[in-house]
Amino acid sequence: MQVAFFSTKPYDRLFFDAANQAQTPPHDLVYFETRLTPQTATLAHGFPAICAFVNDELNHATLQLLAKGGTKLIALRSAGFNHVDLATARDLGLQVVRVPAYSPYSVAEHAVGLILMLNRKLYRAYNRVRDDNFTLDGLLGFDLNGCTVGVIGTGKIGLIFARIIAGFGCRLLGYDAYPSKDFEALGDARYVSLPELYAQADIISLHCPLTPETHYLINAQAIAQMKAGVMLINTSRGHLIDTEAAIAGIKSGQIGYLGLDVYEQEDEIFFEDWSQEIILDDTFQLLQSFPNVVITAHQAFFTRNALTSIAEVTLANLREFEQNHPLQNQVQLPE
Ligand code: NAD
Repeated sequence: MQVAFFSTKPYDRLFFDAANQAQTPPHDLVYFETRLTPQTATLAHGFPAICAFVNDELNHATLQLLAKGGTKLIALRSAGFNHVDLATARDLGLQVVRVPAYSPYSVAEHAVGLILMLNRKLYRAYNRVRDDNFTLDGLLGFDLNGCTVGVIGTGKIGLIFARIIAGFGCRLLGYDAYPSKDFEALGDARYVSLPELYAQADIISLHCPLTPETHYLINAQAIAQMKAGVMLINTSRGHLIDTEAAIAGIKSGQIGYLGLDVYEQEDEIFFEDWSQEIILDDTFQLLQSFPNVVITAHQAFFTRNALTSIAEVTLANLREFEQNHPLQNQVQLPE
């Protein structure tokens, strides 16, 4: 089947071409570097399927153009599907599939990495030693052992994150719209209300999806309920945090450490080289300027294990569609 890939990078081609070789017959994969937007959607004209990533714009206008061009399937090579207008997709008869789980370890381990970067100031230590400065002032950290860690969203990634963190000897507080026994079985772990989690956690890590309910979950009111100097980690989706409120929290000292792999306006910035350009997003530049903020550019998923799995599951999703089989990983509009 002919598939138009959007937002592709050399690493996408590497892993998809390798996985495609194992397919009989292989799919005809056509790679576009550009993001999928209403302006670029016509590139997919005549392709029965397209493959999109997290910052592609699958809004009403794009979906209409895709449907007009004969596209029938949208294969997301991501777990999150918050960027798809599912109601329009349904109305246009476009089916949407995703990769619901691809190494949740990749994201959970990255969240732990951000914590360790921040609590031991490893990003500063690395630069300092390279500069032949071997002093320790300004690098004082704290033990994770004995800390209380709040996990918001205890699904696949949140649960693995909680398991790793439990190994440090932390006490775990969970919040989830659908609590799971697996989380409570972790030993020093229990579900609490959000206000209780905010009031008690030294570190809070976000692992819930972006939905209308979780949009700006972390706003000024939530931040005000947190412990002074809290560490906040977001590897989930940028819009979970009201960035302006987080900046105010950093300025007042209410937020002591902020680790981000996602940012609410990341669409225009992430996955591209801006090193020779002027970034016009003042909010992002201000965030970058704080010494207690660490940002990675949506790389939590970026392990060879995850990329292999993303490619294999996406190609299997395409094959199911092509062979008219039930779509196991179909994204349905919530009731
Ligand atoms: P999952 O569906 O297994 O788990 C999500 C959990 O959040 C579920 O337990 C669900 O009940 C819970 N939840 C839903 N609504 C909630 C609410 N209102 N409040 C609290 N909890 C709620 O998903 P997952 O595989 O663990 O992924 C979690 C998120 O991680 C994804 O939605 C995606 O946004 C993000 N993600 C990021 C990257 C990255 O590279 N940074 C990669 C993959 C996934």
